[in-house]
Amino acid sequence: MMSSYLLVVEDETAIRDMVGFTLERAGFTWSGAVDTAEAYAQIARHLPDLIILDWMLPGISGIDFAKRIRRNDTTKEIPIIMLTARGEEIDRIKGFDAGADDYICKPFSPKELIARVKAVLRRASPVEPDKVHQVKGLRLDASSHRVSIEGQSLDIGPTEFRLLYFFMTHPERVYNRGQLLDNVWGSNVYIEDRTVDVHIRRLRKALANHRYDKLIQTVRGAGYRFSVQE
Ligand code: CA
Repeated sequence: MMSSYLLVVEDETAIRDMVGFTLERAGFTWSGAVDTAEAYAQIARHLPDLIILDWMLPGISGIDFAKRIRRNDTTKEIPIIMLTARGEEIDRIKGFDAGADDYICKPFSPKELIARVKAVLRRASPVEPDKVHQVKGLRLDASSHRVSIEGQSLDIGPTEFRLLYFFMTHPERVYNRGQLLDNVWGSNVYIEDRTVDVHIRRLRKALANHRYDKLIQTVRGAGYRFSVQE
């Protein structure tokens, strides 16, 4: 396996070095940045596979930096893990809204750090166009753009296809409408949140055959989840 390259944006030297040392020991390569200006320079040199981003940075905050990363075409796919000293729910939500994929509360153990890094990298693994994704009898072939349920092919639109592809490659996690828009439509387009509901509805309708629409679950007040668990 090729070693992943991580960028650690953290103004506190002790924490930055601890994170870097932990990453190195786990076989990753990394570089550090003390603020967002340095982070941009590092990203321009070498696009990281993942960014570990401190919430409280001098100048531009981690949150604002994460939003900028998500808005930029070159960097929008890079997963972000936020480091935060605060654990309040509201902050976590702010972090996710800004585009963070996960967060770690300080203080954290090296073991927790590596577990989260690996999990996020696994989820973010690049699109493999030749891969066939299968969940129970539902089959999505990314190379031929075909979807079938128990051998019966489904006729779905391109947006529903992308939506289903995203769900099947990111199962068992709740995404709000904004996150689905960013991931499926791209963060540069302006589309109203309810557009997501329209396409979810169409996708469910297409999957209703053999009751596969149950895989796409509404999580009240939070968003949608693709799950095999009822
Ligand atoms: Ca800090």
